[in-house]
Amino acid sequence: MTDDLQDLGEFDLIARLVNRGSQAGEGVVLGVGDDCAVLETGGDELLLMTTDLMTEGVHFLRSADPSGLGDKLMSVNLSDVAAMGGRPTHAVLAMAVPAGLDVTFLDRLYSGLYARAERYGVTLVGGDTTASRGPLTLSLTLTGRVAPDRLLRRDGARPGDRVLVSGTLGDSAAGLALLLGESSGSGLSDDTREYLLARHNRPEPRVALGLALAAAAAGGVTAAIDLSDGLASDLGHVCERSRVGARIFVDAVPLSYPLRVYCEVTRADPL
Ligand code: ADP
Ligand code: MG
Repeated sequence: MTDDLQDLGEFDLIARLVNRGSQAGEGVVLGVGDDCAVLETGGDELLLMTTDLMTEGVHFLRSADPSGLGDKLMSVNLSDVAAMGGRPTHAVLAMAVPAGLDVTFLDRLYSGLYARAERYGVTLVGGDTTASRGPLTLSLTLTGRVAPDRLLRRDGARPGDRVLVSGTLGDSAAGLALLLGESSGSGLSDDTREYLLARHNRPEPRVALGLALAAAAAGGVTAAIDLSDGLASDLGHVCERSRVGARIFVDAVPLSYPLRVYCEVTRADPL
């Protein structure tokens, strides 16, 4: 077993760490391994809990639009609740703030966060604030509710199921490449560029879709996952957890028109 962080992937690291404890505590319906933890509340509904952290230099640059950051921090967590078929409810936000940061940066970050939260009925009910000697770091924890018969998990897929995605794939990756200057994007129209950047900066959490799929869970929706790392890797998680395989028809992978243009201009292979 390697002790070098570089040699361990993210998932091997998590597996190694969580192996030390039990996942069978009181009220734990589902522990590590899905988009949210699922907990019993004693009531009719189950409690969903998820957390996602964003840190400067890894997930965003200080030059980013602060309101967009707040929006995205909420959205990536909303997306995890959506993937379980849940209705998001409450959030707490912990942050480590470097001394030099302009307070208006945080004002605007909270404006973006609140705007997104209000659209989905989420109330921010707490958090924690400390100084940072390093980057600005933001960690949001979100809870939600779901009826037991509507819960969507990663491990329910069965042979014969169809694999479906919402929206188009690859836009955010192209937006990130533009943002980081990995791809100059010269030759792209402003509209194409803005579309791809917005797909990276302002992802739309599919909460309404998650609720609709959950309502159809009895009618054959067997599993769901929040796509964040990409189809190949995230579908891999569904397959692993469900002990099934999957076949992707590459011609059927939905690509947006702006992404096709981007791939032509930069000679990138969309797949
Ligand atoms: P996502 O892509 O939705 O953020 P991750 O890949 O971060 O999911 O996490 C995969 C699973 O591992 C999730 O169930 C998550 O709760 C769990 N997990 C991630 N990091 C840790 C950690 N440091 N300790 C315990 N569990 C973790
Ligand atoms: Mg995560």
